Amino acid sequence: MDVRGRLFIGGEWTAATDGAEFTTHDPATGTVLATCAEAGQADVDAAVDAARAALADPAWAALPAAERARLLWRVAELIERDADHLAELETRDQGQPLGVARGVSVAGAAEHFRYYAGWVTKIEGTVSPVSFPNTLHFTRREPVGVCALITPWNFPLMIAAWKLAPALACGNTVILKPAEQTPLTSEHLVRLCAEAGFPPGVVNLITGGPTAGKALVAHPRVDKVSFTGSTEVGQEIVRASADDLKRVTLELGGKAPSIIARDADIDAAVRGNVQGALLNSGQVCAAYARFYVDRSRAEEFTEKLAAAVSALRLGPGLAADTQLGPLVTGEHLARVDALVKEGVGEGAELVTGGLRADGDLAAGNFYRPTVFAGVRDDMTIARQEVFGPVLPVLTYEDEDELAARANDTRYGLAAAVWTSDLATAHRLAGDVRAGAVFVNMPPIPDPAAPWGGFGASGWGREMGSAALDVFTETKGVWMHHG
Ligand code: NAD
Repeated sequence: MDVRGRLFIGGEWTAATDGAEFTTHDPATGTVLATCAEAGQADVDAAVDAARAALADPAWAALPAAERARLLWRVAELIERDADHLAELETRDQGQPLGVARGVSVAGAAEHFRYYAGWVTKIEGTVSPVSFPNTLHFTRREPVGVCALITPWNFPLMIAAWKLAPALACGNTVILKPAEQTPLTSEHLVRLCAEAGFPPGVVNLITGGPTAGKALVAHPRVDKVSFTGSTEVGQEIVRASADDLKRVTLELGGKAPSIIARDADIDAAVRGNVQGALLNSGQVCAAYARFYVDRSRAEEFTEKLAAAVSALRLGPGLAADTQLGPLVTGEHLARVDALVKEGVGEGAELVTGGLRADGDLAAGNFYRPTVFAGVRDDMTIARQEVFGPVLPVLTYEDEDELAARANDTRYGLAAAVWTSDLATAHRLAGDVRAGAVFVNMPPIPDPAAPWGGFGASGWGREMGSAALDVFTETKGVWMHHG
């Protein structure tokens, strides 16, 4: 595959001003996949200028809502037209099995554009019953302005759509900066936006690493940063945007607890937790990542869980029978492996996995799904986000201890409860601090439901009407009539 990625600024595809480039690799084979433009300060400045100009351009600013809706709907159709190409590109660049790329990433991206196309004509203000005599007060929902959309490498296409679709629905202009490990589907998505007919400068693309991200965040003419990625970078972004008091939305890390109650259907819980923990090889922010199992069911659960994960077929995402693909990079695999070794060192019992795959898979970043038993709350594998195929099993004696243990974390993105008792489900759904609690199901996003976290898992919510709140400013208009 010989791909050359370029920047998209003001409606033009271009190389970096200084000619800098970087390469991306196929995680299944380690071979070079593409060479992409590495944006520098001059490119970021040009992209911000283009986005700023487009914001005031009547071709965008005065476009009727119904026309804006049509553009978003058209992007959804184009994503579906190119679904096979996009899915293959995502699998090659990111590693996820083709079925996941097609059924989750591409389908999710199209659905987001379609969902927000529906919202464009329903972004309404209100009339407020102010007490000042002879005065009408109404609100307008206005675009925030130039938005920097910075995305991670785990679901590049889908997360780009989570941000692009509501930002454009609300009339903003954007600069998308995908992760340097996985820029290819974002580039194609930006091509589709141009083909759909967004005026030049409304959608811009900057590729590159942290330097490009930092330049965007620091830029005084960027109004908003919408970021998905690690908690540490999220904290840096908050600090860097403080001077200008930029609007900031953050979707950060997680360490979701999954509680398996005494009365749970263990076979269903094993199936759902394997899905919930190992989709995209565990490189999911909401992945179930610590399992609190009633002591009386722990042995059965752990045995069945270990059998289920070790039966999964590991392989290149493009192979039809692959259930678990590679990790995104060799560095990430090394990080996962180091955390697994720390688990062993701290005394957890390694039930299965705990090493990279060899033989035919040795050249790629393949890691065997790993189950730990006998895990304590204070162990690193129970506390730190691993973002890989690692499942630590802990036990509990009494349901009353669960909420405090599940909440003993800086994160709060997702949580799961497996039970057939409605009272247990409702009680824990109320007591666990997380942006989303899933009862008897894996963690799935849907454009209609708010997505985001408590605590160090982030600021604000994406999806649903919540995304309209973070991509608009509310203006009050007071009209005195004599
Ligand atoms: P990362 O934070 O390393 O990088 C994310 C993006 O930020 C990349 O585009 C990167 O180039 C850019 N970046 C890096 N440093 C920057 C800086 N100082 N200023 C501006 N931009 C900068 O994250 P990652 O390793 O790509 O992704 C994995 C993380 O993302 C995990 O922690 C995961 O939990 C999180 N995540 C969260 C969600 C969610 O919805 N909450 C979804 C997916 C991933």
